[in-house]
Amino acid sequence: MLRTHTCGELNLDHTGITVTLSGWIQRSRDLGGMTFIDLRDRYGITQLVFNMETNAVLCESARRLGREFVISVTGTVAERSNKNLKIPTGEIEIIVNRLEVLNSSKIPPFTIEDNTDGGDELRMKYRYLDLRRNPVRDNLLLRHRMAIETRNYMNNVGFIEVETPVLIKSTPEGARDFVVPSRMNEGQFYALPQSPQTFKQLLMVAGFDKYFQIVKCFRDEDLRADRQPEFTQIDCEMSFVTQDDILSTFEGLTKYLFQTVKGVDIEALPRMTFADAMKYYGNDKPDIRFGMTFVEITDLVKGKDFKVFDDASLVAGINAAGCASFTRKQLDALTDFVKRPQLGAGGLIYVRYNEDGTLKSSVDKFYSEEELKKWAEVFGAKPGDLMLILAGDAVKTRKALSELRLEMGNLLGLRNPEVFAPLWVVDFPLLEWDDETQRYYAMHHPFTSPKPEDIPLLDSDPGKVRANAYDLVINGVEIGGGSIRIHNKDLQKKMFTILGFSDEDAQAQFGFLMNAFEYGAPPHGGIAFGFDRMCSLFGGSDSIRDFIAFPKNNAGCDVMIDAPAPIKQEQLDELKLVINIQDQRE
Ligand code: ASP
Repeated sequence: MLRTHTCGELNLDHTGITVTLSGWIQRSRDLGGMTFIDLRDRYGITQLVFNMETNAVLCESARRLGREFVISVTGTVAERSNKNLKIPTGEIEIIVNRLEVLNSSKIPPFTIEDNTDGGDELRMKYRYLDLRRNPVRDNLLLRHRMAIETRNYMNNVGFIEVETPVLIKSTPEGARDFVVPSRMNEGQFYALPQSPQTFKQLLMVAGFDKYFQIVKCFRDEDLRADRQPEFTQIDCEMSFVTQDDILSTFEGLTKYLFQTVKGVDIEALPRMTFADAMKYYGNDKPDIRFGMTFVEITDLVKGKDFKVFDDASLVAGINAAGCASFTRKQLDALTDFVKRPQLGAGGLIYVRYNEDGTLKSSVDKFYSEEELKKWAEVFGAKPGDLMLILAGDAVKTRKALSELRLEMGNLLGLRNPEVFAPLWVVDFPLLEWDDETQRYYAMHHPFTSPKPEDIPLLDSDPGKVRANAYDLVINGVEIGGGSIRIHNKDLQKKMFTILGFSDEDAQAQFGFLMNAFEYGAPPHGGIAFGFDRMCSLFGGSDSIRDFIAFPKNNAGCDVMIDAPAPIKQEQLDELKLVINIQDQRE
């Protein structure tokens, strides 16, 4: 037997018994007469003792072992004189009388410690070593629990998990498809699913009623820090439901996961319309762990010869309670923050409401203290507060103010990752106008149903149509999104027309779905959660990569297996593919 116990389970109750353990050498200390080795496996660390006096040969062998060697030892559990109460096995040690080296190890390129000296690239190249580190392993254990508990909950409320294919054709979720050439069908390509959207809808037509799947999806997007080209969704669909039914079912899942995985009780989730989210937070994924909601003073401030305000379509701000004492330097830093090219604000206007009741602003030249007092009333500001105001084009100003609000939240320590504030954002617009291509795009996807009362607007004012679409937002992060779907062929056809598809294109791409709608499609709707992101949120981290066993880097590459990579000419020939890339070196 290579082990009778794991390295995480022995304690004083086991004193005196003979055990066999196997694992990796975390570190060893040679104290002359004695050699100590910390033996590590997935479950923990156990101290091994080799004694020169009682077994010199064994002790000599132990001294020659290096870090990350794999060994198996047999020995007796003994109470430790020098106890380490920080770990569960810290009160015992194993007096070793048999040692077997199962494998040697090169010196690892970085230390296998909680705080390693390895940089990002190096750790990704040797991901199997990185995965030996406690924090990374713990992240994957958390992910496992999240998946198991999701399956438990979904199973308990009557959902069944169905696998949908990976080699399919395009499903529009607004990104580029990854494509796979078909050898058997020359010149033709599969697309990898951006989501199982159409299949889960077909499962509803098939009568499956409540479907879910923990599923890989693929989107060929320019990568940002928290995006991966392949990622995992908890994908769900239900029949014979209203929006309310879906929200309450998945509010249930959210609460259940917080309760079972984090031991956190979540109250009923507030619901906020998209319009309010934009008005009060400048963002469709508001972080509601803290207040500082937007206050609009556009009408109040015009006509005093202050050109910035007079020319602005929106003047709005936030009240930072207790921040009147911010120094000039702090205010300059905030000004630089909003003037960064990504935000592009012209400047930052501030009003200090001093403790003594006086008001002092950066626009004293244009506004009297009386006037500032009126602003303070609208802001709900008290002595000691600081009002921060931006002005300009409404869309840009909202965006910049939203970032400023989040920055203030960071500065004031209001964004504690151990506090969770989930909410539903509802009533999203159905369509989004794109200036560049001069056409509408589906804000969620083309299968989303307009609100029945807004359907007449589809012809007169499509931009105004609201959808039965919703997002789950937690701590300023979009965790999930979904909608009630169109289940009527004619309405679906109309949607494709509004989105600029010709009848032929719509039929060629989505004929299978519209045909299915002619065979008794039930009303249905669903949602999908970004599982990687959910895990990182539960783990208190911003980075989804830390919660994926083998993630890709920012360039979409796996540097460990070296993918993507060129393929052999024979493979290209077999696929009848001609690669036409100009050699850069020529
Ligand atoms: N398929 C959608 C997505 O991936 C989710 C849904 O509408 O259920 O965002």
